[in-house]
Amino acid sequence: MTMRKFRQAQWEEPIIFELSREDRVGFSVPALEPEIADAMDDIAGLVPNGMLREKPPGLPEVSELEVLRHFIHLSQMNYGVNSGRFYPLGSCTMKYNPVINEVLAGHPKVTGIHPDQDEASIQGLLAMLHELKQGYLEITGMDDASLQPAAGAHGEYLGVLLIRAYHADRGDLEGRTEIIIPDSAHGTNPATAIMAGFKTIEVPSNEDGGVDLEALASVAGPQTAGLMLTNPNTLGIFDSNISKIAGIVHDVGGLMYYDGANLNAIMGKCRPGDMGFDVVHVNLHKTFSTPHGGGGPGSGPVGVKSFLADYLPVPDIVESAGVYSLDWDRSKTVGKIHGYHGNVGPMLRAYTYMVTMGGEGLKEASELSVLNSNYIAAKLKDVKGYSLPFAEGKPRMHEAVLSAEKMSEETGVRALNVSKKLLDYGLHAPTTYFPLIVPEALMIEPTETEPVEVLDEFIEAMKEISDLAYSDPDDVLGAPRMTVVGKLDEARAAHPRTICLSWKTYCRMIP
Ligand SMILES: *Cc1c(COP(=O)(O)O)cnc(C)c1O
Repeated sequence: MTMRKFRQAQWEEPIIFELSREDRVGFSVPALEPEIADAMDDIAGLVPNGMLREKPPGLPEVSELEVLRHFIHLSQMNYGVNSGRFYPLGSCTMKYNPVINEVLAGHPKVTGIHPDQDEASIQGLLAMLHELKQGYLEITGMDDASLQPAAGAHGEYLGVLLIRAYHADRGDLEGRTEIIIPDSAHGTNPATAIMAGFKTIEVPSNEDGGVDLEALASVAGPQTAGLMLTNPNTLGIFDSNISKIAGIVHDVGGLMYYDGANLNAIMGKCRPGDMGFDVVHVNLHKTFSTPHGGGGPGSGPVGVKSFLADYLPVPDIVESAGVYSLDWDRSKTVGKIHGYHGNVGPMLRAYTYMVTMGGEGLKEASELSVLNSNYIAAKLKDVKGYSLPFAEGKPRMHEAVLSAEKMSEETGVRALNVSKKLLDYGLHAPTTYFPLIVPEALMIEPTETEPVEVLDEFIEAMKEISDLAYSDPDDVLGAPRMTVVGKLDEARAAHPRTICLSWKTYCRMIP
C-alpha cells in the first residue's frame, strides 16, 4: 500500500506573522463619526492609569486575501470525516453528517431566531423540537424527555439528579449512597455519580464481557441508588443478561440508568425502555450524526419512565390542537439544566437525520454498522500480534475492541504505535487504550457509511503494520513520518513548562 504524504505542502506555508508587512491593511471600515470618537475618548479616560496600552499590539499586517488563504489552509490541515479516509472512531465520536442536516440547521429562518422570541412566532421551530422528542421517545421506549442537556455527560448528570430527586422525594435518600458501575464503563459515568454526591461501586465483567451477575448481587442492597450501564457496552458486546441485571437492581429499590452513547448499534432493534431502564440519555451528536468538533456543541436529551416525569427540567414543549407552547408546570422539577431549550443546532441536525432516514433507515444504519465492525473484527482477530479479547466467538455490535498485547510483548510495538502508524497511511487512528479492561486496546467503530473498499484498505494497513512490527519494529516505533508533525514526545507535550502552543518567537522566549 502506498502511504500518503498529503499535507506537507500546507505545513510549509509561512505562518501568518511571517506574512506580515508593515502598514499592509486587510480591512476597510468607515471613519468614526465625531460623536462616537468623542465618546470613545471619554471611555478611554475611565481606564485607570497604567492600564492603557502604550503601543498597539503586534498583530500581523496582511491583506484580506492573505488572511483568507491562511485560514483556509489551516482548516485543510484538519482531518475530517468528509475530507480524510477511514475514521474508525465513528459511532461514539463522529459519524458522517449528511449535508442536508446543515441545510436545515443553517437556514436563515432558523439561525435568525432569537431565543426570547414569542412562542407564537416560533411555531415551526417548536414543532420540529416536539417531533424530535416524539421520535426520541419512540426509539428509546421511554415515556417523557427533556431535550436540554448539552452533552452525554451533561445528560448523565441530569439523569443522576433525577434518580436522587426520586429517592429524596420518597424519603429514602439518606441510606442510598451508592451508584453501581461496571468496570467497562466510560469514565464520565463514575465522574457523574461522584459529582451528584454518590459513592461509586465497581462491578467486574465476566469472561463474556458482560456484567458479572454474582458480583452485582453481592454489592446491590438498600444502599444502592442505581446502576449506570451502556448496552452494548464499550467492548461492543450486548449484555443479554440485561433483564436479570435490571431485576437485581430494581429488587433492592435502585433505578437503572442507560448510557445511550452506543445506541448506534440497536436503533429499531431493541429499546432501553424495554430492557428495564428508568432513565436514559442519548448523544444526538453521536448516533444522530450531528458534528461536534472540538468538544461541542452537543446534545444529550434525557428520557424517563412516567414515574420520573415530574422531576424533569422545565419548560417542556407541548402541543394542543396544532398549537405549540411552553409548559413550565412540572411539579417536582429539578430545575433548568441549560439556558432556553438547550443546543438547538445539533437538535435540528438530529431531527433532519431522523426524518430523512425514517424508521426503516435508522434500523438499516444499525444493521450495517454492526455488519461493518464484525467484518473488520473477523478479518483482523487472527492476524499476528492482534487478538479479540472477551467472548471471542461471539459477534460484536457496532464496535470491536482488538488487543495488541501479543504484538507489544513480542516486538515492543504497542497499540499506540499501531495507531500512529495508521496516520502514515492517511487513515485516522482508532480510540486507543480504552476500555481500560483490555490491555493494549484498539477500539474500532467503522459505522454504517463506509464502503467495503475503505474497510479493506484499513484491514490491509493493519496487516501491513503487523508485518512491519515483526520485521522492522523501528519503522513502526518511529511513526508517524508522513504527517504535518512527526512523533510527539508525549511526556514533554504534557509538561506545562515546556509546552508551546504559540507562535515561534514567543516559544523562543521560553528557556
Ligand atoms: C461519549 C460517551 C459518553 C459521554 O458523552 P459526551 O457527549 O462526550 O459527554 C458517555 N458514555 C459513553 C459510552 C460514551 O461513548
